[in-house]
Order: sequence, then structure tokens, then C-alpha cells
Amino acid sequence: MKKDRVAQFRKKLEEKHRELVEEVGKNVLYGKGPDDDSTKDLGDQAATSYNREFLFELGNGTQRLLKEVVSALQKLDEGSYGDCERCGEAIADKRLEALPFARYCIDCQRAVEEEERTAAG
Ligand SMILES: [Zn+2]
Repeated sequence: MKKDRVAQFRKKLEEKHRELVEEVGKNVLYGKGPDDDSTKDLGDQAATSYNREFLFELGNGTQRLLKEVVSALQKLDEGSYGDCERCGEAIADKRLEALPFARYCIDCQRAVEEEERTAAG
């Protein structure tokens, strides 16, 4: 992938990451006292160091999405961004534009969803 494309996706992902961290932070705050500073640190921690242990604790939709975004950012750092995790082929640009944190190409996404359905059903 070209460097300017990579930079574009990184920007998108970082924006999304910020958004999600904020949202997760609010969820964490909810149910805790407003004076509890430790919850703020959680958000900072997630924002600065893509902390896997912190994210491992997360479970709901937003948090799961945040995990995907973090994983995409890590792949950007590693230089493997844009490659399907299943078949290794490049994910279509259009797909990445719509879903910058996509892990699979469209064919594999369908296959994975099918497998999940089968496993669940
Ligand atoms: Zn694939």
C-alpha cells in the first residue's frame, strides 16, 4: 500500500480510536463516583499505549470495535495493514474506506461469518 494511503487510513483510525476511547471512558465512568480519578487513567492508558491487557477486559460492542481499531493500528505499525488476516490477499481499497479496521477481505469476511453462524447454531 502506498505511504500516502497508509497515512490516510491511520488518520481515520486514530480519529475512530479517540472517539471510541471517549465512549468507553464514559461507560466506565457510568456506575462509578464522579470523583474517581482512576477511570480517567483507564482512558488515557488505552489512548496512549494500545494496551492489550486493558482491552482484554472489554466486552461490549463499543469495546469490541475499539479492539478492532487498535489491532488495525498495530498492523499499520507492523506494515501489514490492508492484508486479509485469513488469506493474506490485499483488502479492497473501497472496503477499507468504508471499514478502515476490516480484518478480512470481503470473501473471507463472508466465510468467517458463516463459520461463526455454524459454530453458534
Ligand atoms: Zn481473505
